[in-house]
Amino acid sequence: MHRRWTPLCSLSALVLTFFFVVYVDFHLRARSRGAAHGASGAHGAGAGTAARNRGLQAAERSGARRGAKLELKDIFIAVKTTSKFHQTRLALLLETWIPRTKTHTYIFTDSAARDVTSKGYNMVVTDCQPDHSHQALSCKMAAEYDHFMASGKRWFCHVDDDNYVNAEALLALLLAFPQDGDVYVGKPSLNRPISTHEILEGNATREVRFWFATGGAGFCLSRRLAERMEPWASGSRFEQTCPDDCTVGFIVEKRLGVRMVHSPLFHSHLENLLLLSPGSIPTQVTLSYGMFENKMNSIRLEGAFSKEQDPSRFKTAHCMLYPSTSWCPAHPRPRQRPGGPYR
Ligand code: UDP
Ligand code: MN
Repeated sequence: MHRRWTPLCSLSALVLTFFFVVYVDFHLRARSRGAAHGASGAHGAGAGTAARNRGLQAAERSGARRGAKLELKDIFIAVKTTSKFHQTRLALLLETWIPRTKTHTYIFTDSAARDVTSKGYNMVVTDCQPDHSHQALSCKMAAEYDHFMASGKRWFCHVDDDNYVNAEALLALLLAFPQDGDVYVGKPSLNRPISTHEILEGNATREVRFWFATGGAGFCLSRRLAERMEPWASGSRFEQTCPDDCTVGFIVEKRLGVRMVHSPLFHSHLENLLLLSPGSIPTQVTLSYGMFENKMNSIRLEGAFSKEQDPSRFKTAHCMLYPSTSWCPAHPRPRQRPGGPYR
């Protein structure tokens, strides 16, 4: 015999469904918090924990839950710059790759630039000194780390203001890693581990050897690993063992025992950039440029602009990767895509 479906039945079903959803949601949240806390080690108290909790809440709000497929917007890209490079280096990045990753790229600097923020770019004006000292650069790195932790994003990537970031290649690289693993990926500037002295209690020292990814080529950290780094990396606790990028390697390899992943896809101007074949540019994650022995060290790439017009070759690379960009020569102006901020 069939029971009659009355309005009372519908109401009870609705109430039961509501309680079931609330129950499942509560358990999922409790589990994801437990996992994050378990990964953070014993020292995660105080301001760092608050930042991490904000990060978790932000992650939940943005839907970047563990297990979902990684998207470009889940990658926090920190660009380190300083006021004296706003009009030159930073302006070039704002013309080329940053607009493509605008919502999740954060520019860390030492003085405000209204023309940049008024266009909707994320700029973080730190209290750090503007110079090139270890202390000033470590201060900016700690600020990058803290903002990443609070952002809830799934990956932290750092670059300097003389780096080009190839966003699609970056996403492809990070997708190849276990998303919930401890990952530190970049390129070492030396062909051997660095050897330095760790300062112990009572001013004793101990020789330590480890690999680190050179900041000038860019590097990335997974969220799980970044969470575990917190006791030594957040705010004023950022260690001063060696320069900022070297310290990241020290924390990851020596404090946490995690091995750096060496990738040939990151590039700084400390290497001979002429050796990069033009055909391989689309798969490279970062590029760079700079003066070496009074000559410009940049990638070898023919194309849209002459060396005088584009000494870094970033514009030429950008036009090769995205030929429909409005300012790339010899291409008809693309039709405006609705909602597409890309240039
Ligand atoms: N930088 C800085 N203050 C300075 C000089 C440099 O914050 O006084 C930043 C710069 O914006 C860049 C990074 O430090 O992101 C590395 O600087 P640079 O490329 O000039 O030197 P490198 O270490 O690569 O030789
Ligand atoms: Mn540089």
